[in-house]
Amino acid sequence: MTTILDVKNVTKLYDGEVALDGLSVELQVNEYLSLLGPSGSGKSTLLRVIAGFEMSDAGDIHLAGESVAGVPAHKRGIGFVSQGFALFPHISVFDNVAFGLRHREDDPVRDEGDVARRVNEMLDLVGLADLGDRGINQISGGQKQRVALARTLVADPKIILLDEPLGALDANLRARMRIELRRIRQQLGITFMHVTGNEQEALAMGDRVAVLDNGRLAQVADPDTVYNQPASARVARFLNCYNMFEGRAGDDKQFCVGDASFPYPSPQDASIGPGTYCVRFDKIRVAPATAAPRPGEAGVRATFITSEYSGPSITYFFEGQGNKVLEVEYHLSHRQPEEFSPGSEYSLLWSPGDALVYS
Ligand code: ADP
Ligand code: MG
Repeated sequence: MTTILDVKNVTKLYDGEVALDGLSVELQVNEYLSLLGPSGSGKSTLLRVIAGFEMSDAGDIHLAGESVAGVPAHKRGIGFVSQGFALFPHISVFDNVAFGLRHREDDPVRDEGDVARRVNEMLDLVGLADLGDRGINQISGGQKQRVALARTLVADPKIILLDEPLGALDANLRARMRIELRRIRQQLGITFMHVTGNEQEALAMGDRVAVLDNGRLAQVADPDTVYNQPASARVARFLNCYNMFEGRAGDDKQFCVGDASFPYPSPQDASIGPGTYCVRFDKIRVAPATAAPRPGEAGVRATFITSEYSGPSITYFFEGQGNKVLEVEYHLSHRQPEEFSPGSEYSLLWSPGDALVYS
């Protein structure tokens, strides 16, 4: 494996406020890295610092082995697709893609035959072969996204940074563009860093997922590891698929939340002290309030509120102690949806081995 991008201990302050806090991350050639984090965690700042639109206050960035210190953005060989696409509204799709080739400072392409060949190749790649003559306001949001991508790809960058590239698209288009991005990446063998606030997008797209929290990386791992073994309670929270209980070990060595208590995943977890107990939405079964738990099973009582059907799965919302909303997800490919009665109490049960505890 060859490192293409090496970000080391990068710190960025805005008016004394830390946006990036000594952050380090490496990307390998041809890797697709998802960068997941809540709003304000520093995702765009990191991309802008890498691209050269912002100066870092400390740390080093190497691209293909060379320091980018003092190298202006347009000479870094980095492609950047910003949130709003930033296309030129008054020129055609073709001219938008051609713009950089014709007008760049270094080695502009003067031969229009050459420009046409390269632009058309990229329009073809992003599925816009027939739309070169259209104006930017004559194409859809998804097509604008493709133009932005083509315009970036045509410059033949070493690495492409995407800042929430699918955020402006509706859910249908988002799913299609995820597939398109993967195909383009496979065809070109280019390195991507894809910023998103959407956990499903991050898990679906990345060879690895980096989770950003307050300007620091909380976890960098393959999607399966991030999903199943989040490195901290905060990472679990960002994943949006865990019920989380704050509590502590009781005298009986069980995890106590209010006046409920349940077994730890393993007995030695009781020494963790005050902590967060996490159970994934899809690891819970719902039973009548009167049903006895199976041996070893953990559970809480909760009142059914409502459900949300999404086709392949259904999410049930319950209210537990202290008005806490608890979610249970049933995947319908291997079970039937169930009817629960709103306002009635049920037992939510899980196997402690499926839970995670963090101090
Ligand atoms: P994200 O993209 O993850 O939502 P940003 O990188 O945009 O987060 O912002 C990280 C932090 O830096 C936030 O607290 C934000 O308010 C602050 N910030 C970002 N850009 C600027 C700026 N140009 N001036 C001052 N503060 C900024
Ligand atoms: Mg942002």
